[in-house]
Amino acid sequence: MSSSFSAPKGTYDILPPDSATVLAVREAIAAPLRRAGYGYIETPVFEDVNLFSRGVGESTDIVTKEMYTLITKGGDQLALRPEATASVLRAALQANLHRVGNLPVKLWYSGSQYRYERPQAGRYRQFWQVGAEAIGAEDPALDAELIILAVDAYRSLGLSNFRVLLNSLGDKQCRPVYRAALQDFLRGLELDPETLRRAEINPLRVLDDKRPDVQKQLVGAPMLVDFLCEECKAYHEHVRELLTASGIAFEDDPKLVRGLDYYTRTTFEFVHDGLGSQSAVGGGGRYDGLSEMIGGPALPSVGWALGIDRTLLALQAEGVELPTPNASDVFAVPLGEQARRVLFAQVTELRRNGLSADIAYGGKGLKAAMKAADRSGARYALVAGERDLAEGLVQLKDLSTGDQTPVALDVLVATLKEKLQ
Ligand code: ATP
Ligand code: MG
Repeated sequence: MSSSFSAPKGTYDILPPDSATVLAVREAIAAPLRRAGYGYIETPVFEDVNLFSRGVGESTDIVTKEMYTLITKGGDQLALRPEATASVLRAALQANLHRVGNLPVKLWYSGSQYRYERPQAGRYRQFWQVGAEAIGAEDPALDAELIILAVDAYRSLGLSNFRVLLNSLGDKQCRPVYRAALQDFLRGLELDPETLRRAEINPLRVLDDKRPDVQKQLVGAPMLVDFLCEECKAYHEHVRELLTASGIAFEDDPKLVRGLDYYTRTTFEFVHDGLGSQSAVGGGGRYDGLSEMIGGPALPSVGWALGIDRTLLALQAEGVELPTPNASDVFAVPLGEQARRVLFAQVTELRRNGLSADIAYGGKGLKAAMKAADRSGARYALVAGERDLAEGLVQLKDLSTGDQTPVALDVLVATLKEKLQ
């Protein structure tokens, strides 16, 4: 009988053997970041709710609909983090990293995020991201670097069916002009009240509306590319050139806006074509105004977050299996009480020597213990009974060939180390 509880709606457990793939994916995304000088950061899973409403934006879906908020017994208003950029910037500012270190401060993180969404394939209420932020520098090379690092991570995982979508959202000079033009256009359409309301508070988000009838009406809408100021245009062109020079294929997507209010200039999304409607495997962009929005100094920054859950689905869709470490090298099968003690000591010694080793527990007999050895995936079984031990021996059985050879106990660790090189 299973217990009377199950994981809350929209959440799932990550269990062996799949959990090994999860670790491998996180590691594969982290490796290029480490090589590019990004340092690891962890922040609390909950923060002052205002960090997100101010940082992510009052009018975003994340803040208006998706945030898990709570009031503590002490009366503090907190929220489970729906994303990590605001927290990472908060932490960097709090620790004065932008003053003591060279700019940009480069940080990466790995952790769970929480959004109250309608659960479906690739969309959960607790999900995982690995993300990177380069804080405090305005340089097209940083925008390009981050996009390249994400693409290299996906490639290193063996993924190929993904695309990079690229856009510029302008800056505080040119975006307000565009915003007004777009609003004028939207006011003339026949939109439902909710969408009209959105057009007033966050018109760019309307471009992102997935409904075909809305998309049809948007044909002929003014596009931000046509409104970019000279600086934004030059900046964007520079990013594009660097990407091209690094062999990164990208698609200009003038309607790409992303769901967070803090983005400026470069915005991008990584989409995978094997995932159906939840196709965004990652996204990010430049957020030059965020620091000031949360009370800090002007710190132009850029970053991304890649979704681990959807990356796993992408691997499945492409039929990629990541090499994961073997559960054990060696599995011990003791026959009798004395053998149990001797082999337990040998297993401990093997582990201390860097080999992975396990043993049949619970007083199993030969047959059940050999079955456990097979199931463990180990290369070798160590079998010993009283007669072997009296001669100072154990039987080393190669589980793939079935060959069995006696090995003296005092050279066992050395012998196995050599065989498993
Ligand atoms: P979407 O448009 O699919 O809702 P988003 O724009 O809200 O994505 P971001 O906030 O930019 O996503 O987060 C970056 C990545 O995190 C996404 O590309 C996706 O891979 C992942 N992600 C976001 N929300 C979820 C979720 N609810 N469940 C699983 N993964 C998610
Ligand atoms: Mg979303």
